[in-house]
Amino acid sequence: MDDYDNESISVAEALRRIESDLIPITESVQVALRSALGQVLAQDVCSPINVPAFPNSAMDGYALRHCDAAAPRLRVVGTAFAGKPYAQVIHLDECLRIFTGAMLPEGADTVVMQEYVQTDGESIQLTTACTLGQFVIKVGDDVKAGQIILRAGKRLLPADLGLLASLGITEVAVKRRLRVAYFSTGDELCALGEVPKPSQIYDSNRYSLAGLLSRLNMDGLDMGIIPDDPVAVENAFSHAARDCDAIITSGGVSVGDADFVTTVLRKIGQIHFWKIAMKPGRPLTFGKIQKVVFFGLSGNPVSMISTFYQFVQPALRYLQGQQKVQALRFQVPCLSPLKKLQGRVEFQRGILVPDEQGKLSVRSTGKQAANMLSSVSQANCFIVLPVECREVAVGDVVWVEPFEGLI
Ligand code: AMP
Ligand code: MG
Repeated sequence: MDDYDNESISVAEALRRIESDLIPITESVQVALRSALGQVLAQDVCSPINVPAFPNSAMDGYALRHCDAAAPRLRVVGTAFAGKPYAQVIHLDECLRIFTGAMLPEGADTVVMQEYVQTDGESIQLTTACTLGQFVIKVGDDVKAGQIILRAGKRLLPADLGLLASLGITEVAVKRRLRVAYFSTGDELCALGEVPKPSQIYDSNRYSLAGLLSRLNMDGLDMGIIPDDPVAVENAFSHAARDCDAIITSGGVSVGDADFVTTVLRKIGQIHFWKIAMKPGRPLTFGKIQKVVFFGLSGNPVSMISTFYQFVQPALRYLQGQQKVQALRFQVPCLSPLKKLQGRVEFQRGILVPDEQGKLSVRSTGKQAANMLSSVSQANCFIVLPVECREVAVGDVVWVEPFEGLI
């Protein structure tokens, strides 16, 4: 069997079309360092200082003048600790007891490790030769004053906050957070806290979306459940479009009678409707209501999540001005036999597990139906099966994409 559909477009092509239609926001806000985690840097950051700002020792040992290294004995004139420098100059045939991170005294240019010294407490003798400048961390070794240390568009990680702090920087300009409104559509949906009528199901998509958006450090605006009614859908869109950068809906994008998302969008905005050569999540609606970006995702809980990861997440990152980042994908042996149809990419749910040696393999979560949210919950990655693949035998190598990458 073949699932080739000559009207469908590839995942990469859909993403390219989406991004070519987006203009990254330019507004930024100044925030304290601690609040900048996960936010997108709005400007390049240049270092105002050299790091280190003074020459210091990389080892516990003795600081000396390299030209005195061959002397039979060097007199120990004092001690320098990290944060407690020795204030005087090192002269001929003198040395200084020095500890890691301590400032190198004037005159000294070399540090000898304590392991290569014989000492009687008052003087030392070197037991090996040393090279000029060894174990001295020079001014600006790590970062030079004026050097660009972080580029605009970087999403700030914990070490970035530490790096900025090491430069004495207390606040940074970051892109403002995106406001992303989302709602679910469907008469069959029951909000949490209400009692479902027979034939109703609980609305789960808004909770998955809340989590997905919060992981992106974006402000999600929960607009609730919209019934399958064109007036209600139009009112909800118009209301949401006043106050956000993007709208995500789930449900109501198939071409069934009760699917009003596309008809309303066509009326009040611009719309693209694509069949994507992927499973799950084939139909994708992308459009705009004035400047507000619109994503209409399938209501199927699994499709909704896989299309979010493939399209909405990169698009929202781009819209916020984040540098382009490639999703982390790598190959591992597969422990389960897999089947698929040709003609589309499949994002099956997998569990990436290390063996006793730490080598990773992936196994399937089992049944891959698009309504089985429990299979996504058990999974920690997608097993990405390319268009031409038909089946995977146990031991075959497959591509995986972890849900949480390095970015
Ligand atoms: P639709 O995209 O509206 O055709 O919905 C596809 C399937 O997903 C149907 O079985 C819906 O009942 C289900 N569904 C739609 N929206 C949600 C939701 N918010 N939470 C859970 N299931 C949903
Ligand atoms: Mg529906």
